[in-house]
Amino acid sequence: MEARNSARYPLCVLLTPEALATIQACTAAAYDQQRSEWGGLLWGRLFVHPMKGMVPVIVAATNGVCRATPTSCEILPASWQAGERELADQRLGGLQCLGDFHSHPKMGVFMSGPDRLSFWSYGHVSHWLGMVVDPWRSDYGIFAKCSADRFERIPCFVMSHRIAQVLNLPRPVSGRLAGRGHLVSSQGGNHRAIR
Ligand SMILES: [Zn+2]
Repeated sequence: MEARNSARYPLCVLLTPEALATIQACTAAAYDQQRSEWGGLLWGRLFVHPMKGMVPVIVAATNGVCRATPTSCEILPASWQAGERELADQRLGGLQCLGDFHSHPKMGVFMSGPDRLSFWSYGHVSHWLGMVVDPWRSDYGIFAKCSADRFERIPCFVMSHRIAQVLNLPRPVSGRLAGRGHLVSSQGGNHRAIR
């Protein structure tokens, strides 16, 4: 697979266990502390599929700077700077922002009205991913465009370190929660693992 950008749409997504652990840590911490949703950013690389479309590979997730309530989460612009700082701290170079994630604590995975508006605010970015997670129901969904005006939930695979090595991807710290040193395991999820 060749790493480059194109106007094609994502077929499926690969995700490192470390990124999933960070997503779980960020969203669980916010719920524990303030009973709110929470979110952040997804970073990685795009691979062009030989037949059609592209395969975004999420290497790392970074904790967002959010305005959040029990039923809403706005990922603020400061999240980009905070994310780039976190990547630099972990010496993760050559990654681009592929999308964002936010939690629906105990509500399940779906795209709400505000989620759709937020997703289409990136309408010019063909590969943009909107990830909605409910770790309490072990539900992790990634939504991507399938045409200029439609999106769908696409398959998401957690990949092994061997595949990350083959793709020459940097390895992030597992479950890193910037500024709090909080670690969680990467158990759970309805994703399928590929090795
Ligand atoms: Zn939402």
